[in-house]
Amino acid sequence: MNFLEERIIRYGVIKEGNILKVDNFLNHQIDIDVIRQMAYEFQRRFKGKTVTKILTIEASGIAIATLVGLLFNVPVVFAKKSATANCTDDRYVSEAYSFTHKRMNKVLVSKPYINAGEKVLIVDDFLADGEAAHALIDIVHQAGADVVGIGIAIEKGQQQGGRKLREEGYHLESIAIIESMDWKTQTITFRKQEKEAIENANIKASWV
Ligand code: 5GP
Repeated sequence: MNFLEERIIRYGVIKEGNILKVDNFLNHQIDIDVIRQMAYEFQRRFKGKTVTKILTIEASGIAIATLVGLLFNVPVVFAKKSATANCTDDRYVSEAYSFTHKRMNKVLVSKPYINAGEKVLIVDDFLADGEAAHALIDIVHQAGADVVGIGIAIEKGQQQGGRKLREEGYHLESIAIIESMDWKTQTITFRKQEKEAIENANIKASWV
């Protein structure tokens, strides 16, 4: 198991309806050491890519994205969610159905924060049906920029987002991929990861 899978086993709570709560270290309380390890793992997995901006979506993606931005030494932009926003000339707007809140959200980024030609690395906490990721991809394309990769902390492999994004040709990296989970027995199984991704759990990199 890698560092994130271990945390999920130790602190994750599975709710009915295929929802995993990881409030202990990611979605409410934030364990900076876990976020730091995620950032280093994304740096390793996207090594060699030119990245000029990190893009995430509020709220829980922000913590991860900031440390990834620190390591890549580029600005971080977070898309805002709104149930009601109208389109205006000064922002890019897309739409995503929220799996957790069961409603359609508008996803917004002000135009000055993504420029044509930029190389954007998308980062988020969870990937389920791929709604949020596709809305962010749509916004990057509206801006005339490129998606160089998508870094996800926890992919729920039983949902179709990961499969779709890989089929579409995106370089998708998920640090933990859940193969199955059962709220009645509180058991989780993970998709097998490459050896390096497990060993990387032990990095003791110091802060810059
Ligand atoms: P998607 O857009 O891929 O369907 O779902 C991803 C988004 O929904 C993430 O940004 C995350 O906030 C939320 N999400 C989806 N599934 C879960 C889950 O099981 N647990 C938590 N905490 N958030 C989830």
